[in-house]
Amino acid sequence: MGSIFSRIVKGELPAARIYEDDDTLAFLDINPASRGHTLVICKEEYPDLLSVPPNLVVAVTRTTQRVARAITSAFQPDGFNIVQNNGAAAGQVVFHFHVHIIPRWEGDRVLAYWRPGKVEKSELQEIADQIKAHID
Ligand code: 5GP
Repeated sequence: MGSIFSRIVKGELPAARIYEDDDTLAFLDINPASRGHTLVICKEEYPDLLSVPPNLVVAVTRTTQRVARAITSAFQPDGFNIVQNNGAAAGQVVFHFHVHIIPRWEGDRVLAYWRPGKVEKSELQEIADQIKAHID
């Protein structure tokens, strides 16, 4: 059966397609945050950034840049956000690796941001060391 996005790849479900190559596909989000909100996926199904092979991360990133340039040229937004959700707690709904390109216009307020927190300088290094110990 596969994910909703795998069904779009296979042509079993419709989508407003923008670009595709051997490894990636870009199409419009069905519930756009703004005009031109696009999803870039790898055609092969992997649930998230942790599981997708690095060569496909590169392929998706290339397509993201290519399509972001096209959106910028088409609609002249004031900017755009690249959003990539991993895990339900982070807002991921479709468990098929994908990147959002969300065009932005001054004052549009279509995205909520994180609240900046406070941390002791010494704790920052401790946290960095904890992560560093797991780099492979
Ligand atoms: P996530 O929260 O998983 O990062 O984002 C999934 C996105 O997929 C959502 O923004 C949602 O609107 C979009 N989406 C879900 N189902 C479909 C669909 O069938 N077609 C398209 N084009 N977008 C979809």
